[in-house]
This record gives sequence, C-alpha cells and structure tokens, in this order.
Amino acid sequence: MNQEIERRRTFAIISHPDAGKTTLTEKFLLFGGQIQVAGAVKSNKIKKTATSDWMEIEKQRGISVSTSVMEFDYTPDGKNIEYKVNILDTPGHQDFAEDTFRTLTAVDSVIIVVDGAKGVETQTRKLMTVCRMRKTPVIIFVNKMDREGRDPFDLLDELEKELEIKVRPLSWPINQGAKFKGVYNIYEQKLDLFTPDKQRVTEKVEVEIDSEELDKRVGEQDAEKLREDLELVDGVYPEFDVETYRSAEVAPVFFGSALNNFGVQELLNCFVEIAPSPRPTKAEEREVQPEEQKFTGFIFKITANIDPNHRSCIAFCKVCSGKFQRNQPYLHVRQGKTMRFTSPTQFMAQRKSTIDEAWPGDIVGLPDTGGIFKIGDTITEGEQLHFRGLPSFSPELFKYIENDDPMKAKQLQKGIDQLMDEGVAQLFVNQFNNRKIIGTVGQLQFEVIQYRLENEYNAKCRWEPVHLYKACWISSDDEKELENFKKRKYQYMAKDKEGRDVFLADSGYVLQMAQQDFEHIQFHFTSEF
Ligand code: GDP
Repeated sequence: MNQEIERRRTFAIISHPDAGKTTLTEKFLLFGGQIQVAGAVKSNKIKKTATSDWMEIEKQRGISVSTSVMEFDYTPDGKNIEYKVNILDTPGHQDFAEDTFRTLTAVDSVIIVVDGAKGVETQTRKLMTVCRMRKTPVIIFVNKMDREGRDPFDLLDELEKELEIKVRPLSWPINQGAKFKGVYNIYEQKLDLFTPDKQRVTEKVEVEIDSEELDKRVGEQDAEKLREDLELVDGVYPEFDVETYRSAEVAPVFFGSALNNFGVQELLNCFVEIAPSPRPTKAEEREVQPEEQKFTGFIFKITANIDPNHRSCIAFCKVCSGKFQRNQPYLHVRQGKTMRFTSPTQFMAQRKSTIDEAWPGDIVGLPDTGGIFKIGDTITEGEQLHFRGLPSFSPELFKYIENDDPMKAKQLQKGIDQLMDEGVAQLFVNQFNNRKIIGTVGQLQFEVIQYRLENEYNAKCRWEPVHLYKACWISSDDEKELENFKKRKYQYMAKDKEGRDVFLADSGYVLQMAQQDFEHIQFHFTSEF
C-alpha cells in the first residue's frame, strides 16, 4: 500500500482562461502515452453562447464529464519508478469558479499556468487564495515564451506580489519572442534548446554554464547575458529547498511554451519528483492518514448526466485512506446507510471504465441515480467521520427565485434542493419574508439553473431582482450581541442550506457600518470557519 501511495501525484492545473491550461494538459497526456496526437483533448471551456443556445452549453458541459479526471502512468527517462499521475480538470469559465474551488480540495498540489505576456490575471489571483488557505504546494509554469513578454525578473516580482508567495526559478529563459533560444534548466543543470516546431521535441544538451560550448550554442552575447542572469538569480533567490515547496512557502517557477511542447517534459519530470504524494486529510474528528488500512473518502464534485432520459449523476470521490474496493459495503455517513457500489469508474483521457480497486489519491466515479450524494459527503468502512474543508464562498450575484407554475411547486422545491446539493449555486432563505434567494458567482449559473429545472424537474422558475452587495456568515462568542444584531437587522437576516445565519448587506457601506457597530461579531466571507 505504501508503494501505491508513494507513486501517486494528484493535482490540478489552474490558470486564467487562455493562459494555456488545456494545451499543457494535452502535452502531459502525450508524455503519459494517453493520447497519440496533439489536438485530441477537447477544451472543456464553455464558450459564451447566446442564452437560447442551451443544448450547446449542455453539450459543452458534457465534455467536462469525460475529461474531469485524467490519469496515466509515467516513468521519467532514466528513473525506475513509475508514477501514477492524476490530473483533475477544472472548468475554464469563471462562472463555474466554485467547481474549481471544490476541485482544489481534492488535490495534493497545483500547477499554475501564467501567460508570460499578461502576467497574473484575476482568476489566477482568486484561485491562489484558495491554495494559500489550504497550504497547497504550487509550481508556476510561465507559458508562451515564444511570444514577446515581460522581463523575467519583473515577472517574478509580480508573481511574488500578486500571488503572495515566495518564488524560486528552476529554469531560466534565453530571450523570448522571436529571439527565444531556449531555457537553462537550473534544476537539472542542462541547456534546452528551442526549435520552434510543434511536433518535435526539443534538443537537449548538457552544457556547463561556464563552458565555451554554451557560447557556441546560443551565441556569445546571449551566453554572457545568461551567466549574468543566473548569477543574479542565485544572489536574489535562496537555494531551492524541496521542503519549503511542500510546505507551500515557496513556489518553483519554470519557463516554456506549452504549444511548442517546450519546457513541458522538464516541468513534468521535476513535478513528479518533488510534488507531494497524497497528504493527510482533516476531518472534524481527527486527521486521517493515507496509509490507514480502512478506506475513507469524500465527494468533492457531482456532475449531472446530459441525457434527460437518464437523470443520473456521477459523484466524484477522492480516496483519502485505505483501499477502495468494488462491491464492498461502505457507510454513507450523512445518511447513516450502508451501500455497495457495483460499477465505480475511473477516468481516462477519453473514456471511462469500471474499476475494482483504488488507492489514496485516486478519484473514483460513483453513479448516483438521484439524491444519494451531496458535495462534502464522507464514505467510510463504518467510522463516523466528517471530512472538512469544502468552503462556500460568498456569492457575487443574487436573485430571488420564484415559482412560475403553481401546479409544480413540489417539483421546483425538489429541483432547487438537488441542484444546491450538487453545488450549482447557493440558497439563502430570507427570514423576514421567507423568499428564496439564489447566490452565484456568474450570470451563466442562473441560466443553467432555470434550464435544468425545466428539463430535469419539469418545473418553471422566474428570476426577480434583489439588490444585494454581499452575503456573509456571522458568528460571535457574545451570544447577547449576536441576538441583538439579528434583532436589529431582522429584515436582512437569512439562513443558508445548513441553517447557518447569514447577513445580507445591500451595500458596502452598510456592511462597513455593521462591522464597526458590532465589534464582537465576526463577518465571514467563506463558510468554512
Ligand atoms: P486555457 O484557456 O488556459 O485552457 O488555454 P488554451 O490551452 O486553450 O490556450 C489558449 C490559446 O493560447 C490557444 O489558442 C493556444 O493555442 C495558445 N497557446 C497555448 N500555449 C501557447 C504557447 O506556448 N505559445 C503561444 N504562442 N500560444 C499558446
């Protein structure tokens, strides 16, 4: 079992849309032998479509089911360990950022792709916040070096400042854009020369940094510049220490071009070597070690089937400890029920197949024919465990949801409940007027909800505007002040799905005043506290 755990690398590649996540993922799969030609992996990006074109969006959503987890075995050249790589895909569209946040709870590390010309963009900054909260180790890949970009030193400064993490370059570019000649691999002390060609792998040469060979290869001027840069790198950045990476204090940085397959294998080789194998998982009751004999796992994502005649879902379960086995009786802790899973699946680049067993770090797909699982559910061999760490973020957009077909009130209620369990959006019930408010991070989610209610639950809803700035969870050690607050703000108090108190602030000013007037009350912008 220890061997199985040791060789697993479960991670996500994250980026701002268009930085090159899909391209990099595809190149990884090429090295893993999962696909033979470039272009075989579909981007699961949901492109902006007209509201009327719902089937199109559903079709695009469907793609993300099969490419949700990509796994392959990989042995770097000259090594005799076979790694099992599990890449968890995340939706590119920012309206589905919640999905990505949740996926980050199931990974042991992350690779962040940054566009070398654009630097750190909004989505990257947000995702990094989650990594910091969870102390997830990150490696940064600066992509598109074949284009004119920023000065690498400036870029590193920006990464440190914007992502709030120390960085340590492990490779260094020789020029960029049209004059890009390659990178010096600081980690392996090798020179990787660039040949701008999509199909061919780069030429690798072992060159001493002070040798004449370097001048011959890249020209005297660039060789000199490289030596100066590397000296500066060594002066400015502390020597690379794998422990500071694993404890999420320092992020190693690689430069390359995913499209040209340049710097990608170097990244992958270093990644499998230094990235952590499955880490312990925190539960309410205790910390669970991957090496424990008994199986435990939790659901971090649920994906609906796009076929309306087959209203089943797939629940994605991350194995936290022990060995998962097909057909074994397991406890669904929230429901207090014992269940057997007859057809658990694993995911390959373009297909999924039934599996008999899975190890810590693996993701198992469990078919759900309706309402069995909720995001965050724990499965064990009998122990009462509740895994933690699936935060809900304060949504950014709010609308009242109203029933538009009085005959279908029940269906609507059921639909809303299940969609919220799937984590499509968040529901708040205003305690003053009992109206239901749906909170999302993007407009698209409202459209998805309306469409799915109609198609899957035969219910009709209508949206009505509600003017809100933020919803925040409140807590306090001072019971009296909490009661007082709730009384004073009774029109603005709501309950979330778990029955927790939520304050609905209609402006930034109101929120600020509330924070000032009620010193002993904590206002939380994530529900994990
Ligand atoms: P994602 O949204 O992060 O998944 O980005 P994609 O992988 O779909 O890439 C976005 C665009 O950037 C595509 O047109 C890619 O062909 C292009 N691209 C990706 N990597 C590179 C690169 O290294 N150099 C250049 N010039 N373009 C790239």
